[in-house]
Amino acid sequence: MTMTTTDTAARPAYAKASAGQPAHTPGPWRACHNGECTCGQIWSISADHPVATAIIGEWGDNLCGKAEDRMVYGSVSAGTAAANARLIAAAPETAAERDRLKAVNADLMEALENIRHELDHLQIDGIRGTIEPVPAVPVPA
Ligand SMILES: [Zn+2]
Repeated sequence: MTMTTTDTAARPAYAKASAGQPAHTPGPWRACHNGECTCGQIWSISADHPVATAIIGEWGDNLCGKAEDRMVYGSVSAGTAAANARLIAAAPETAAERDRLKAVNADLMEALENIRHELDHLQIDGIRGTIEPVPAVPVPA
């Protein structure tokens, strides 16, 4: 797999080290040949090195490092391995989206708290607000 270093942008928040924890290799990550390659490797484009390998085919334990002593427990099909490789490769973007949604959720919770606070004041002041019922939306069959 040929990779080049093209992304020199600063690391996003999710990739920065925090106290006592190392940061992961920066993204973007890509599965070799979109996960269809039998190497199963997932590469960091910006760091230009592999970060993981998706298991393809039989998996198990290698006892004492000897192939003949291998204990096979199962097998991962090529299609599943390709999907796994693509899922792993999406980890940096998935983590960034998670962090973005956490921030959106925090903003929404703050807005809800502000609304609740305003409603509490309306009740204290004896002013009755009108809450219109929301009509039911028919669900397509
Ligand atoms: Zn490959």
